[in-house]
Amino acid sequence: MGLLRHLQNHPAFLEKLYGATHTAVTTLQPIIERIGYERANRWLKGSEERTKRAIFDCRMCGQCILHSTGMTCPMSCPKNLRNGPCGGVRANGHCEVKPEMKCIWVEAFERSRQMPTYGEEILHIQPPVNRQLEGESAWLTMLTGVDKQTPKGWIGVTEVTVIGNR
Ligand code: SF4
Repeated sequence: MGLLRHLQNHPAFLEKLYGATHTAVTTLQPIIERIGYERANRWLKGSEERTKRAIFDCRMCGQCILHSTGMTCPMSCPKNLRNGPCGGVRANGHCEVKPEMKCIWVEAFERSRQMPTYGEEILHIQPPVNRQLEGESAWLTMLTGVDKQTPKGWIGVTEVTVIGNR
């Protein structure tokens, strides 16, 4: 097993790295505001894409929930599911679309069990991915809060009835 695969399957270090980057980015927010979000986005998105693509196979959805999904990118699911697996997971835990690939939600759940800080967030309901944010720096959409906004015409995730809560 390569070092990268080992890190992905034992994500405690990646979780710490996420936490440190989160602290750094929020600390830098006043400077980023002075630079301007649009300009900062132009400067940041290239390096964010290169780094996250290399480590997480990131697809630059602009609305990052990695820390809530076992440091496993949900956009690498062929169906881009953001709230757990579809009904097609094979008996061996592999994907119904790509039989050679382990279901990313099986991986996400197993990995989340090794994450002391964010591991429980795998139980959070995520809003549908907003495709209008594709290609943007997810760190910046987090700072502006745009990643949590419900686009006009959509139903907010808090308005969705959860079976059992009716
Ligand atoms: S959730 Fe989005 S931003 Fe985060 S790694 Fe996956 S594609 Fe990239």
